Amino acid sequence: MTTRETTEGGAGLPIARRVVSVVRVAAAGTGLFVALAILHPEAWQACIIGSLLFLLACILPARSTRKAKAGEELWRRQAPLWPDGGIKAVVEAMLEPAFLIDRNLLLRYRNAVSEQAFGNMALGDAISLRFRSPELLAAIEASVEGRKSVNTEFIEGRSADRSWSVDILPIPVPQGERPAFFLILFHDRTGERRIERMRTDFVANASHELRTPLASLIGFIETLQGPAKEDAVARGRFLDIMRDQSARMSRLIDDLLSLSHIEMKRHVAVSDRIDLEEIFADVLESMSPLASESDLVIETQYGPGPYVVAGDRDELVQVFSNLVENACKYGEAGRRIVLGLQRLRERDSLLVEAFVQDFGPGIPAEHVPRLTERFYRVDVGTSRQKRGTGLGLSIVRNILVRHRARLIVASTVGEGSTFTARFPALDPR
Ligand code: ADP
Repeated sequence: MTTRETTEGGAGLPIARRVVSVVRVAAAGTGLFVALAILHPEAWQACIIGSLLFLLACILPARSTRKAKAGEELWRRQAPLWPDGGIKAVVEAMLEPAFLIDRNLLLRYRNAVSEQAFGNMALGDAISLRFRSPELLAAIEASVEGRKSVNTEFIEGRSADRSWSVDILPIPVPQGERPAFFLILFHDRTGERRIERMRTDFVANASHELRTPLASLIGFIETLQGPAKEDAVARGRFLDIMRDQSARMSRLIDDLLSLSHIEMKRHVAVSDRIDLEEIFADVLESMSPLASESDLVIETQYGPGPYVVAGDRDELVQVFSNLVENACKYGEAGRRIVLGLQRLRERDSLLVEAFVQDFGPGIPAEHVPRLTERFYRVDVGTSRQKRGTGLGLSIVRNILVRHRARLIVASTVGEGSTFTARFPALDPR
């Protein structure tokens, strides 16, 4: 599998054997001419000339044998250095970064993908010049010394920007020989690690959110069993708090279940024909009491319809109930909420736009991109006080993804916020 990058002497008989045979032929030939000179003394000059020519003919191949020997030396030095075109083609075909090193841990080849991922590296340089991770270098050494495949993890960047799983594999050679090359194959695991981290964070956040009301409940139960056992006034007050805390836990569990249910269905396409005007009518009816409680009026602002989209009725009611509930929670008392519908054209597609607008305090720009993250709140205290769980907009986003709709948040501090969902329009029948 290795290329002998030398122009001559690459194959043929071993040199020592070749020299011995040349000497034998020269001796035999010269002996023959000497015998002829003895037998025919009259032609002794012709015999001497013949003998000299024969010796010359023998010496010339011997000189080229010396050259061959030098070439073979060169070959011996170069043999383990350069991989052949076959290995290079295989390394090049790898879809992820791949490097070929020799036994001395010097880089002998790398594919184009590796250059995009790790920058340019000069052939012949030590691999440790680019990769300084002690774990990775130890794994490479273990593979080279043990002549075996080794797998390791490699995390690049101080903030764990990219995670890689790395395989170091000896290139197979005939039995009994030492591998000349080792393939270092990188597999990008950044996405998987990020999902793992998100999952861990989510479990930690959910546990924390549940633990807080639970701790409060336990505290009040102990107080009611102990110091406040006979205190009827305190008992009434504590039971009210305990009811609120239980309701908070229940809301949280409902939202968590809702989120996991929607995430499971996220990639299942919706197929029912839904008129968003009907959805808005349902939401208006169910949310009116909350709006009046918050001293807000709900208005509608509909352009020319129809507003038919592919959807799931219950999920769409959930989306707009959540948005209206937020508008009631965070909107300014004494003002209004607008529910709007309109059709619009974006390049070649027809869209239906549904929005919920409030005239509350608005959201500072730096928070807007993060609003749909699970448990993200602009102000935790206000959200808790308003019975928020921090999951509402995350549920909204996931439902909209399933509907191939886009959520656009526009907000100006001091003026209010507009949450818009843009759906692909269905042709009216
Ligand atoms: P929560 O249950 O806390 O309301 P959401 O996911 O529904 O959680 O919203 C996340 C955060 O976004 C809220 O805590 C709040 O800070 C902010 N937010 C959502 N809607 C509005 C709005 N209409 N006006 C101002 N802030 C809002």
